[in-house]
Amino acid sequence: MDLSIVIPFYNEEESLEELVEWIERVLNEQKIEYEIIMIDDGSSDRSWSIVEKMSTSRQYLKAIRFRRNYGKSAALQCGFQASQGNVVITMDADLQDSPDEIPALYRMIVDEGYDMVSGWKKLRHDPISKRWPSKVYNAVARWVTGIKLHDFNCGLKAYRQQVVKSIEVYGDMHRNIPFLAKQAGFKRIGEKVVQHRKRKYGVSKYGWQRFVTGFLDLLTLVFITKFGRRPMHFFGVLGSLMFLFGFIWAAFLGAEKLYAIKHHIKAPLVTNNPYFYLALVAMILGTQLFLSGFLAELIVRTSSDRNTYLIDKKVNL
Ligand code: UDP
Ligand code: MG
Repeated sequence: MDLSIVIPFYNEEESLEELVEWIERVLNEQKIEYEIIMIDDGSSDRSWSIVEKMSTSRQYLKAIRFRRNYGKSAALQCGFQASQGNVVITMDADLQDSPDEIPALYRMIVDEGYDMVSGWKKLRHDPISKRWPSKVYNAVARWVTGIKLHDFNCGLKAYRQQVVKSIEVYGDMHRNIPFLAKQAGFKRIGEKVVQHRKRKYGVSKYGWQRFVTGFLDLLTLVFITKFGRRPMHFFGVLGSLMFLFGFIWAAFLGAEKLYAIKHHIKAPLVTNNPYFYLALVAMILGTQLFLSGFLAELIVRTSSDRNTYLIDKKVNL
């Protein structure tokens, strides 16, 4: 199988037929053997029955229905696992992504050797309340991940099969798939300007909250990548420094007091000195941080993915 098209959908009854017919029109002109995998993320409208009906006359249209709404990430992950194509292309079901882009994306993976190509909605047909936060988000994402993409969260993306079988998209991590791919060792990440269209039917399933949760997810990923398997390098260092700082300060305050007593200088009680409490807090926080690191290390030691790695190639083995 050359190509799998993975489409997650949630209450998109008006678009589905139009979408599938359009994909067929585009791909039947190409010599590409393909399958369409549609994942119903717990729709409550007629979406599933429409897909079921379309699938009776089409062998290559495969569909999976979730029992309830789990979110786009889960739907994508499910589609990735079911996919069999050498190239996997994902797209939204709301007709905002154009199937006309499929052949070019496919070629970029097959002929130009990219591991992953992300669409870039350069001319975007969304309200400004979505476009501007998105610009900020992408700038931050570029900065922390080091991946030079303009549009991390474009639904239209193409992957080499190995990529989707190596990553795990969970929670709301679909916004950060390029980073997941990079973390899995896939470096050739490209970008293609794609047409973007106005939402024709239905409503967007995500509000402004997406930007808050997106940032948090990004932070999580960066932290996990850096310290996920060696948390003590973060907590231990921070905790030790903090404890030392507090300890030296407290010792200094004590020494000062002893000096005053010895030389009969009138000095206030140590407990009347505000700095004493700051030193104390630093010592307590330092100990807590260190302990958190230690507990995290114990968790990592027993976790099943403490030492997982992806092998690219082998010889004589
Ligand atoms: N979607 C999904 N599960 C959800 C929310 C959305 O499968 O819980 C699908 C949705 O049907 C669409 C795609 O994800 O095909 C993108 O969603 P939407 O168009 O609402 O996002 P936007 O275009 O506003 O970013
Ligand atoms: Mg949309």
